[in-house]
Amino acid sequence: MTEFDVAIVGGGFSGCAVAAHLARSPEQGFSVALFEPEPLGRGAAYGSPHRELLLNTRAFQMSLYGSDPDHFVRWLGPRAGRMEFASRRLYGDYVAEIAEHCFSRPRYERVPERVESVRRGIGDRFIVETANGCFFARSVVLATGNPLPNDDFLPLEVRLHAGYVADPWRFDYRAVGGQVLVIGSGLSALDVVVALKSCGHRGHVHILSRHRRFPEVHADVAPYDVVPALEASGAGALLRSFRRHVRDAAARGFDWRAVVDAIRPESEALWRRLSQPEQRRFERHLRGLWERHRHRAPIQVDAVAQAYRNGGRLNAYAGRLAGMRRGTVTIAGRDGTTIALHPDWIVNCSGVGRTSAMVRDRLLRGMLADGTISADPRGVGLRATSSLAAINSQGSPVSGLWIVGPPARGSRFEATTVPELRAMAELVASQILNAMRYERWEGRQQA
Ligand SMILES: Cc1cc2nc3c(=O)[nH]c(=O)nc-3n(C[C@H](O)[C@H](O)[C@H](O)COP(=O)(O)OP(=O)(O)OC[C@H]3O[C@@H](n4cnc5c(N)ncnc54)[C@H](O)[C@@H]3O)c2cc1C
Repeated sequence: MTEFDVAIVGGGFSGCAVAAHLARSPEQGFSVALFEPEPLGRGAAYGSPHRELLLNTRAFQMSLYGSDPDHFVRWLGPRAGRMEFASRRLYGDYVAEIAEHCFSRPRYERVPERVESVRRGIGDRFIVETANGCFFARSVVLATGNPLPNDDFLPLEVRLHAGYVADPWRFDYRAVGGQVLVIGSGLSALDVVVALKSCGHRGHVHILSRHRRFPEVHADVAPYDVVPALEASGAGALLRSFRRHVRDAAARGFDWRAVVDAIRPESEALWRRLSQPEQRRFERHLRGLWERHRHRAPIQVDAVAQAYRNGGRLNAYAGRLAGMRRGTVTIAGRDGTTIALHPDWIVNCSGVGRTSAMVRDRLLRGMLADGTISADPRGVGLRATSSLAAINSQGSPVSGLWIVGPPARGSRFEATTVPELRAMAELVASQILNAMRYERWEGRQQA
């Protein structure tokens, strides 16, 4: 059986970033395998066939290396400026290029297969199993990414509809025409409108969400000159002190966006200061508000939605999808009205899936069932220590098993965008390197 020092499961941004950080280490000689059946570096975010989709963060924030913040900007060259929103596909090219470079090195191997199970084998090794074979690994990094949006809240007839799109991120919208119902009004919903426009769609778009609230829009603003000291004794206190800061900032001529951006590096620490019940309150009442202000849409993206709206081709509804019969969807509006629609397509943009969506994946389902990993009580992801070691069903850290990327949302406030993901990847790579250094030292002592 082939043995690797490190097995990385998933070759989207997170898995590739772990490999890239390992490859940057001056010490080499260890072996790394990356398991990914799809093209490298793309994953859910950067694999859409539509070139018109833009990053929702500016180029200067998107380097794969935190210690070299202009790496992506240099790679882009004249194709986009550091303050611009580059194409998401182009960003996928960037990550793929770094990953291809890593995997051209000796002892770095790409296995183009899906991992079906990971379990403890003999001694401290893991057995990583695909449909075609088994591998041993000393460390395993789970970088399996964004679960597809939950759809257990949708009526069966919606899910069985011929035009139902369960994966809004990788779908090719060229075939889509007529009436399109989009469930959710976040950034992914706006992306659907952009993709439709780029394909020459001439029909109508209906957007349904609980409150009919769209993401805020980016603007060029002066950075806030204060690191806001927020009161984190509870979710309500946090909101009140945030509002106070926004008011103070506005009085001094600063935009609220600058305050949000100044809080961002502190948000993880603030989150950890909240008690568990307060974290749950935040999750229930404030998470959506924070995300709408923190994950903003580029103005160009918002303009496309506006153009649809101005042309009378976009309607937004606040309510819920109450049922579907013989192709007619019934929307129960928050204002008590009932609306009937006859969509040709229904796109689920209800957000990154929670733990209940993760178990659709065979690998994670198996690992949860045998207790190797565990779900967090909020139901948003997997449990991990602050250093990203997986926590098993007994509540103990699993030595050598790491979680990077969106599945770690169970233990992190922010595990979504590139600045957080690259820090997570770097943290895990450095711990793997330390463990290997220690093993070598121990080996030398025993020799
Ligand atoms: C639509 C979208 C747009 C985004 N835009 C931005 C942005 O503009 N700026 C920003 O900073 N962040 C953005 N993000 C957030 C972040 O960059 C993404 O979440 C990123 O995709 C996370 O990378 P990942 O590798 O963890 O997960 P994913 O991209 O989901 O990749 C996971 C990979 O793991 C593979 N995999 C899963 N299970 C297995 C298995 N069992 N065996 C082998 N392989 C497996 C999958 O095939 C996939 O390729 C966006 C996210 C989304 C969803």
